[in-house]
Amino acid sequence: MIILEKYKGAATRYTCPKCGRKRCFTRYINTDNNQYINNNVGICNHIQSCGYHFSPKQYFDENKEFKVFNVPKVLNHSKELKPIHKIDKKIMLATLGNDSYFMEFLRSRFPEQWVDRVRNDYMICGDKNKRVIFWQIDEYLRLRTGKIMAYDPITGKRLKEDNLKIKNYNLKIQPLTWVHSELKKAEILDKDWQLSQCLFGLHLIRKYPEKPVFVVESEKTAVIMSILKPKYLWLATGGLSLLSWEKIWAIRDRQIRLFPDLGCFEKWKSKAKEIEQEIGVKMVVDDFVERYQHHYNLKQGDDLADIFKF
Ligand SMILES: [Zn+2]
Repeated sequence: MIILEKYKGAATRYTCPKCGRKRCFTRYINTDNNQYINNNVGICNHIQSCGYHFSPKQYFDENKEFKVFNVPKVLNHSKELKPIHKIDKKIMLATLGNDSYFMEFLRSRFPEQWVDRVRNDYMICGDKNKRVIFWQIDEYLRLRTGKIMAYDPITGKRLKEDNLKIKNYNLKIQPLTWVHSELKKAEILDKDWQLSQCLFGLHLIRKYPEKPVFVVESEKTAVIMSILKPKYLWLATGGLSLLSWEKIWAIRDRQIRLFPDLGCFEKWKSKAKEIEQEIGVKMVVDDFVERYQHHYNLKQGDDLADIFKF
């Protein structure tokens, strides 16, 4: 049964998503599984001055596919998670103000405040060769690693070995490397330090508890979509084959929608089914990119960000 949550102290009243006042917002709850319909489905106490009321019916009309609730299995999967080896925060702090060609590209396409917002949100940094560092920070703000990538500042495309030659970039620079591998090379991390990746942007689930979570493959797409569609929280797996139950486990109580790249729909669809069986988390796999491929003249591997002209 779906009812307005009964008052059981201040902890059962929330900040209103509209007027922002604290402890005045009552959420609808499904008493069958004790889950909220959604964090912003409810009613504000300030009927006159605010008047926010988002009913379960409105919500289900707008989000038909979410009628099936996420009820994660009771199995204690967190026990099966590998121990997390993290990287010292000082290492990230040392790179914080650094610019990168990727940021240059963003600034050439979008207003500065928008770019600043995503840079601060995702903690986008650079190395001394102006490669971008996409840090993987988890929900407990632990640094898992950082992906260091070279981009072309004009086109925003990734630089591969050949481009480096053409453009006279320093050939010693690898177009792609990882913070943890560099730290191991420098013997700052022990040899037995083990990588466990998390979703890029995962730390933002605390900052944006209300936003539906949209997952894409590449970090670049997550950042650009977050500029274009800030209503949603954009996270990235970092690769086609990097969708896993461990990554999804961290966002299991959220509404999750996956946007595979063109040509990857079936692969993510079957992986999503597998994850659902493993940990009971239901995700919508969106075929938006497939559906519009001809309309936008997309080629294999193109993704959501290639649809929007900017
Ligand atoms: Zn309100």
